[in-house]
Amino acid sequence: MKTVPDYFGSLVFDDRVMKSKLSSKVYNSLKKTIDEGAQLDSNVANAVADAMKEWAVENGATHYTHWFQPLTGITAEKHDSFISPSPDGRVIMDFSGKELIKGEPDASSFPSGGLRATFEARGYTAWDPTSYAFIKGKTLCIPTAFCSYGGEALDKKTPLLRSMEALNKRALRILKLFGTEAKYVHTSVGPEQEYFLVPKEMFEKRKDLIYTGRTLFGAKPPKGQEMDDHYFGVIKPRVEAYMTELNEELWKLGILAKTQHNEVAPAQHELAPIYTTTNIATDHNQLTMEIMQKVAARHGLVCLLHEKPFAGVNGSGKHNNWSMATDTGANLLSPGETPYENAQFLLFLCAVIKAVDDYQDLLRISVATAGNDHRLGANEAPPAVVSMFLGDELNAVLEAIETDTPYKGAEKTQMKLGALVLPKFNRDTTDRNRTSPFAFTGNKFEFRMLGSSNSIACANIMLNAAVAESLKIYADRLENADDFETALHEMIKKTIKDHKRIIFNGNGYDDEWIKEATEKRGLLNLRTTPDAIPHLLDKKNVDMLTSHKVFSEAELKSRCEITLENYCKTVTIEANTMSQMAKKEILPAIEEYTAFVASAAGKKKALDAEVSCVYETGTVRKLSLLSGQIFEKCDELDKVLCKLSDSANIEQEGYMIRDELLPKMSELRVACDEAEVITAEKYWPFPTYGELLFGVR
Ligand code: ADP
Ligand code: MG
Repeated sequence: MKTVPDYFGSLVFDDRVMKSKLSSKVYNSLKKTIDEGAQLDSNVANAVADAMKEWAVENGATHYTHWFQPLTGITAEKHDSFISPSPDGRVIMDFSGKELIKGEPDASSFPSGGLRATFEARGYTAWDPTSYAFIKGKTLCIPTAFCSYGGEALDKKTPLLRSMEALNKRALRILKLFGTEAKYVHTSVGPEQEYFLVPKEMFEKRKDLIYTGRTLFGAKPPKGQEMDDHYFGVIKPRVEAYMTELNEELWKLGILAKTQHNEVAPAQHELAPIYTTTNIATDHNQLTMEIMQKVAARHGLVCLLHEKPFAGVNGSGKHNNWSMATDTGANLLSPGETPYENAQFLLFLCAVIKAVDDYQDLLRISVATAGNDHRLGANEAPPAVVSMFLGDELNAVLEAIETDTPYKGAEKTQMKLGALVLPKFNRDTTDRNRTSPFAFTGNKFEFRMLGSSNSIACANIMLNAAVAESLKIYADRLENADDFETALHEMIKKTIKDHKRIIFNGNGYDDEWIKEATEKRGLLNLRTTPDAIPHLLDKKNVDMLTSHKVFSEAELKSRCEITLENYCKTVTIEANTMSQMAKKEILPAIEEYTAFVASAAGKKKALDAEVSCVYETGTVRKLSLLSGQIFEKCDELDKVLCKLSDSANIEQEGYMIRDELLPKMSELRVACDEAEVITAEKYWPFPTYGELLFGVR
């Protein structure tokens, strides 16, 4: 039997393969490109392409593709085979450096948010050598960035790489001031991924799941998650078989799948990988989501990645564990052992605090989707208000610095560094606050607002850029300071004073907190996607993101437009699906059952005029009332849907959806769910919540 180390990464053109397949000259030159972003000359590219092709063909590949992440949020690929005709009428397998470096997919059907109107219709893909090529099925996949000919990014990878570079540059300036040796600083991410598994045969009977990925109807089953018996519970054999195969597939692709367990809701599970650099973590998370769905199909299951597949039980999110580290592996968010390391740590910590407070809106925007709007603030996921949890000990340290009082922490020793008084403290081991959107967990931050189907690129772009901005401001001041230590102390103090409003260590699910946050502290509460997205174009955000060259103004406009468009389309599809299901499935089912009950009453009366028909009469009356309501609500829903096309622009359409369409959808659902409860099971047209949530054996 093959062991995991035998096959881990077997489908990846990784460092080990490169070393064995490339001459040392080519290998070194490629390595320089990967590590330092040096230009690759065409001879090297040709040699790499040749080795890649040879390796891929040996491993059964017939095609190659430039694998990229357009603004749809999923990945895209167009396959080309390696075949090339040879003079003897046969074929050879061919792949050139040019084909490796650049591709020209027809970009015209990808969303561009207006970028295409001003630039060329065609876009091009460019090889990202920092993320290894891999084989999926029979195709060699080459991770690429996707841009227009005008150089505008049409994807999520390009701004992510730019944001990493922005942070790298500023972090290096800070490290230099501390005398810390580093060639580069990268951001690392370990995203925990939640998902649901439902039986395939039941999924296929529900149009809502098929068209929208979530249930739009469904009465609460007798049992939900109230017993807390699913969380970390014993994994059912079918789910275990699924997880085993999923791990194998992920490991072959070099993805560090590490932890798996049952989650809070019935049928909900989680997978967490070991962290890696942001760029690779993003590629890997996209692949993980794809493979989760593929493997499920082989087990007669469907993997639901939607943020809120079921009302009444928890939805799914993604926890983005984030940190910064040097090329030598030093974690910059690790408190460290000496006061000197402590000082450096505190400065990086302050940079994050400042970033999260100054750019609360960008963080909220980065996770805004129609699906995630159902979770944030619904007492199962963090609220839509961004705040930070630091833990008691770190909080006490910051308070001591702010008020210039000695810190009386767990460690008695008071450390001094010139004028700077920075205490040594332990890594916080207290209960980590689960309700905080942005929690410090010892040596990293955990951003918990991401939706389960979101690409993690957006959140990390904003986070990297915002922290880069804090670091830049700090570096500008410190580099020009007369006395480094005094300036450092003052700056840390000032950051704490100016930004402590963002720090909240209490219960984030409490309504009182939302009141305090918005009324007393002046924090933003951007409840829904249409509330949040337009702030992307606020001057302070445009200024920051363009100054770090993470986005151009045109790119930001395009993202704003695309995100709103996506929101509108998503909810419109949901509303249309509801209307169809209600009219074509639910109403006829209710009608049939009503007729059955009525005719039963008629037959009973014919037999014995005195017999009681309380149940029949009551049920027929109630169902008739409900079917009348459903009919009316459908009509009202259809009218709002028609009205949407009159909206002046996409922003207006978003507001109309938020204020008119979504409330109508809820009303229609209430009537249908009520009818479900009193309709005989065999008449109900699709599987119920009970069957979906408890159906996997
Ligand atoms: P939890 O208690 O939330 O499950 P863990 O400590 O188990 O937290 O870590 C969860 C995730 O955090 C894992 O994916 C792990 O790889 C990631 N992680 C750990 N250290 C770092 C780091 N320095 N940078 C980024 N992610 C990290
Ligand atoms: Mg977590």
